[in-house]
Amino acid sequence: MDYCFAADRTLGKLAKWLRILGFDTIFESDISNKRFYDHLAQERVLLTRTAKIRDRFATKRLVFIEADDVYEQLRQVIDEMAIARKDIRVFSMCLQCNSPIIGINKIAIYGLVPDYIWQTHDEFSKCLQCERIYWSGSHVERSTAFIEKLFD
Ligand SMILES: [Zn+2]
Repeated sequence: MDYCFAADRTLGKLAKWLRILGFDTIFESDISNKRFYDHLAQERVLLTRTAKIRDRFATKRLVFIEADDVYEQLRQVIDEMAIARKDIRVFSMCLQCNSPIIGINKIAIYGLVPDYIWQTHDEFSKCLQCERIYWSGSHVERSTAFIEKLFD
Protein backbone atom coordinates (compact mmCIF):
# COMPACT_ATOMS: atom_id res chain seq x y z
CA MET A 1 0.00 0.00 0.00
CA ASP A 2 1.35 3.43 -0.98
CA TYR A 3 0.61 6.36 1.28
CA CYS A 4 1.39 10.05 0.89
CA PHE A 5 1.26 12.36 3.87
CA ALA A 6 1.01 16.07 4.64
CA ALA A 7 2.27 16.99 8.12
CA ASP A 8 1.23 20.25 9.73
CA ARG A 9 3.78 22.71 11.13
CA THR A 10 3.91 21.11 14.58
CA LEU A 11 4.99 17.74 13.22
CA GLY A 12 8.42 18.31 11.67
CA LYS A 13 10.07 15.35 13.40
CA LEU A 14 7.27 13.04 12.38
CA ALA A 15 7.55 14.25 8.77
CA LYS A 16 11.29 13.51 8.79
CA TRP A 17 10.73 10.01 10.13
CA LEU A 18 8.05 9.24 7.57
CA ARG A 19 10.55 10.25 4.87
CA ILE A 20 13.15 7.95 6.47
CA LEU A 21 10.59 5.15 6.18
CA GLY A 22 10.21 6.01 2.49
CA PHE A 23 6.87 7.82 2.48
CA ASP A 24 6.29 10.91 0.35
CA THR A 25 5.57 13.47 3.08
CA ILE A 26 5.18 17.20 2.60
CA PHE A 27 5.80 19.42 5.61
CA GLU A 28 3.78 22.58 6.05
CA SER A 29 6.78 24.72 7.03
CA ASP A 30 8.50 23.90 3.70
CA ILE A 31 5.78 25.46 1.56
CA SER A 32 3.20 28.22 1.67
CA ASN A 33 0.02 27.74 3.66
CA LYS A 34 -2.18 27.91 0.63
CA ARG A 35 -0.19 25.29 -1.27
CA PHE A 36 -0.19 23.06 1.78
CA TYR A 37 -3.98 23.03 1.88
CA ASP A 38 -4.19 22.62 -1.90
CA HIS A 39 -2.24 19.40 -1.48
CA LEU A 40 -4.98 18.03 0.72
CA ALA A 41 -7.34 17.96 -2.23
CA GLN A 42 -5.08 15.21 -3.55
CA GLU A 43 -4.72 11.80 -2.02
CA ARG A 44 -2.60 12.88 0.90
CA VAL A 45 -3.35 11.86 4.46
CA LEU A 46 -3.29 14.95 6.66
CA LEU A 47 -1.37 14.61 9.91
CA THR A 48 -2.27 17.28 12.43
CA ARG A 49 -2.28 18.04 16.13
CA THR A 50 -4.58 21.04 15.75
CA ALA A 51 -8.25 20.50 16.61
CA LYS A 52 -9.30 23.43 14.41
CA ILE A 53 -7.69 21.83 11.37
CA ARG A 54 -9.11 18.42 12.24
CA ASP A 55 -12.61 19.90 12.31
CA ARG A 56 -12.15 21.94 9.15
CA PHE A 57 -10.98 18.92 7.17
CA ALA A 58 -13.28 16.43 8.81
CA THR A 59 -14.19 14.75 5.54
CA LYS A 60 -10.57 14.22 4.44
CA ARG A 61 -8.39 11.31 5.34
CA LEU A 62 -6.66 12.45 8.48
CA VAL A 63 -4.77 11.22 11.50
CA PHE A 64 -5.21 13.40 14.58
CA ILE A 65 -1.91 13.03 16.39
CA GLU A 66 -2.15 12.99 20.15
CA ALA A 67 1.32 12.21 21.51
CA ASP A 68 4.27 14.60 21.86
CA ASP A 69 6.86 11.88 21.50
CA VAL A 70 7.81 11.10 17.88
CA TYR A 71 7.96 7.35 18.53
CA GLU A 72 4.37 7.38 19.82
CA GLN A 73 3.33 9.60 16.89
CA LEU A 74 4.79 7.12 14.41
CA ARG A 75 3.13 4.21 16.19
CA GLN A 76 -0.22 5.98 15.87
CA VAL A 77 0.22 6.60 12.12
CA ILE A 78 1.36 3.00 11.57
CA ASP A 79 -1.62 1.64 13.51
CA GLU A 80 -4.31 3.88 12.02
CA MET A 81 -3.07 3.46 8.44
CA ALA A 82 -2.34 -0.26 8.94
CA ILE A 83 1.21 0.13 7.65
CA ALA A 84 3.18 -3.11 7.66
CA ARG A 85 6.92 -3.75 7.65
CA LYS A 86 6.71 -4.68 3.97
CA ASP A 87 5.20 -1.27 3.08
CA ILE A 88 8.27 0.72 4.05
CA ARG A 89 11.36 1.44 1.93
CA VAL A 90 13.88 2.79 4.36
CA PHE A 91 16.22 5.57 3.09
CA SER A 92 14.59 5.86 -0.32
CA MET A 93 13.44 9.49 0.06
CA CYS A 94 15.47 12.68 0.44
CA LEU A 95 15.07 14.02 3.97
CA GLN A 96 15.66 17.53 2.75
CA CYS A 97 13.33 17.89 -0.24
CA ASN A 98 11.09 14.79 -0.21
CA SER A 99 12.21 13.45 -3.60
CA PRO A 100 13.34 9.89 -4.38
CA ILE A 101 17.05 9.14 -3.92
CA ILE A 102 18.96 6.58 -5.98
CA GLY A 103 22.15 4.60 -5.51
CA ILE A 104 25.11 6.20 -7.25
CA ASN A 105 28.52 4.94 -8.35
CA LYS A 106 31.23 5.91 -5.87
CA ILE A 107 33.48 7.21 -8.65
CA ALA A 108 30.82 9.68 -9.75
CA ILE A 109 30.85 11.58 -6.48
CA TYR A 110 34.59 11.81 -5.88
CA GLY A 111 35.31 15.30 -4.55
CA LEU A 112 31.69 15.91 -3.64
CA VAL A 113 31.92 14.42 -0.15
CA PRO A 114 34.71 14.80 2.44
CA ASP A 115 37.76 12.65 1.56
CA TYR A 116 37.60 10.50 4.68
CA ILE A 117 33.95 9.69 3.97
CA TRP A 118 34.77 8.76 0.39
CA GLN A 119 37.63 6.53 1.50
CA THR A 120 35.73 4.72 4.22
CA HIS A 121 32.38 4.13 2.47
CA ASP A 122 31.37 2.18 -0.62
CA GLU A 123 27.68 2.86 -0.95
CA PHE A 124 26.31 6.29 -1.72
CA SER A 125 22.92 7.63 -2.81
CA LYS A 126 21.99 10.90 -4.37
CA CYS A 127 18.84 12.99 -4.53
CA LEU A 128 17.99 13.75 -8.15
CA GLN A 129 16.18 16.93 -7.14
CA CYS A 130 18.46 18.78 -4.68
CA GLU A 131 21.60 16.66 -5.37
CA ARG A 132 22.24 15.97 -1.71
CA ILE A 133 24.46 12.91 -1.23
CA TYR A 134 23.78 10.26 1.40
CA TRP A 135 25.93 7.51 2.84
CA SER A 136 25.55 4.98 5.64
CA GLY A 137 26.87 6.04 9.00
CA SER A 138 26.16 5.75 12.68
CA HIS A 139 22.90 7.69 12.20
CA VAL A 140 21.70 4.95 9.85
CA GLU A 141 22.46 2.28 12.46
CA ARG A 142 20.58 4.23 15.12
CA SER A 143 17.65 4.76 12.74
CA THR A 144 17.57 1.08 11.88
CA ALA A 145 17.35 0.12 15.54
CA PHE A 146 14.53 2.62 16.03
CA ILE A 147 12.64 1.22 13.01
CA GLU A 148 13.06 -2.37 14.20
CA LYS A 149 11.48 -1.35 17.49
CA LEU A 150 8.58 0.35 15.68
CA PHE A 151 7.65 -2.86 13.86
CA ASP A 152 8.46 -5.24 16.66
ZN1 LIG B 1 16.66 16.27 -2.14
